[in-house]
Amino acid sequence: MTDGLRVVVVGAGFSGLAAALALSRAGAQVRLLEARDRVGGRVLTRWLPELTQLDLGAQWIGPTQDRMYALVAEHGLATFASASVGAPTLLWAGAPRAEPPAQVGRVLGLLDEYAARLDPAAPWATPEAALWDRTTLGGWLAATARDDVTADYLGRVLAGGLLATGVDELSLLHLLFYLRSAGGTGPLLGMAGGAQQDRIVGGPAALAERMATALPPGALTLAAPVRGIEQTVDGATAWTDTGRVDGDAVVVALAPTLAGRIRYEPPLPPLRDGLTQRMPMGSALKVHAVYPEPFWRADGRSGVATTSTGPLTETVDNSTPTSPIGVLTGFSYSTDAATLRGMSPARRRQCLLEAFASVVGPRAGDPVDLIEYDWSADEWTRGCFSGALTPGTWRTYGPHLRTPVGRVYWAGTETATRWSGYLEGAVRAGERAAAEVLAG
Ligand SMILES: Cc1cc2nc3c(=O)[nH]c(=O)nc-3n(C[C@H](O)[C@H](O)[C@H](O)COP(=O)(O)OP(=O)(O)OC[C@H]3O[C@@H](n4cnc5c(N)ncnc54)[C@H](O)[C@@H]3O)c2cc1C
Repeated sequence: MTDGLRVVVVGAGFSGLAAALALSRAGAQVRLLEARDRVGGRVLTRWLPELTQLDLGAQWIGPTQDRMYALVAEHGLATFASASVGAPTLLWAGAPRAEPPAQVGRVLGLLDEYAARLDPAAPWATPEAALWDRTTLGGWLAATARDDVTADYLGRVLAGGLLATGVDELSLLHLLFYLRSAGGTGPLLGMAGGAQQDRIVGGPAALAERMATALPPGALTLAAPVRGIEQTVDGATAWTDTGRVDGDAVVVALAPTLAGRIRYEPPLPPLRDGLTQRMPMGSALKVHAVYPEPFWRADGRSGVATTSTGPLTETVDNSTPTSPIGVLTGFSYSTDAATLRGMSPARRRQCLLEAFASVVGPRAGDPVDLIEYDWSADEWTRGCFSGALTPGTWRTYGPHLRTPVGRVYWAGTETATRWSGYLEGAVRAGERAAAEVLAG
């Protein structure tokens, strides 16, 4: 029975937008409160000259991310294939190498085998959960990979590339949950055929805006950070700086650490509050070097690279098919990202351009522009790509990731059991939370 049901949704990222749309389509009266003066959350698209689309936040979708492709079609948008020209580069201990040693595949295969044993809705119930949760990825790789370069490489690509965290900050159990939720290392790491296959024309930001437009008039309020959530036997109220919004239920569509910054009355149960203290955001820097054209292609280089050392773990050719401009995008994670943040702007620029040059040659040293956006410095995100439970905490706190607290329900990509950490996970989590509210 949804007639007259009033629901307040906190956060207009993909999860909050999906929750609000699902609730309003089911007949509920929805109010969506967003802290920023824009929708979309961890997505932000800027336009360079020649209408070059630059996605500063999330940018890719790929096979099995069915809700995202359906939303793109439903809202009249299209996708284009990520640039992939020439063979990817692997810099192994600083030197080019045709392909990784066979043991990289062996270790990835072992991880996939372990991940397949786990239920992504209840990783804590896996028989090996205690062992895997007290084992850091760093410790496991040191014991499993046959040499230090392989351990470093896999640590960078898995802890960094997937969760933007360090190998010693990430439990094997959390990584296995993440792999399982996406279907394994193949779908996660691949470009064509994997999570990096396609981009959205206009960027995910364009999709978020269209989703917001599909909401009933007056449902969305921007620049309205929710400071407090109060619930009684009769209802739930979200407090902003300018007043109260009353409802029968509240969906909090935020990363847990941000959800933990809201004041709750009555206070959250200790295990739910504890969870919000144990799921920090990752730490990634995504930087873009802009050139008059993608000059590396003429040299038969793809611009796509992974490295076992240096400040950038990965680079991609982020040029778009309809623009002549060349864009190389690099990703730096964890301690590498922290080191870059600690440098003067001039030193950081030099360090980044040297890293790009190691992939595509010295012409990388002379870009038209070098563009950074640090999500860790953004008050309403505080890090990316997503949050991850710290080692040893899944079994105690993990069961409280999605469990509603009275009239308060939890969405956000971190709560997803399929494609957790991704736009797809955000949408699925929002729709799942909406269904929970509707089911009462
Ligand atoms: C650099 C980067 C690259 C990424 N690459 C990809 C990619 O290629 N593909 C992919 O699928 N995913 C990628 N991701 C991850 C993806 O962006 C996220 O999984 C997804 O956007 C999360 O959506 P969400 O709605 O759960 O959370 P968010 O997008 O964080 O939305 C939460 C919203 O709540 C708002 N908010 C916060 N606090 C309050 C408050 N107190 N009151 C009201 N509103 C509040 C925020 O402003 C925000 O709009 C990337 C992320 C980043 C940052």
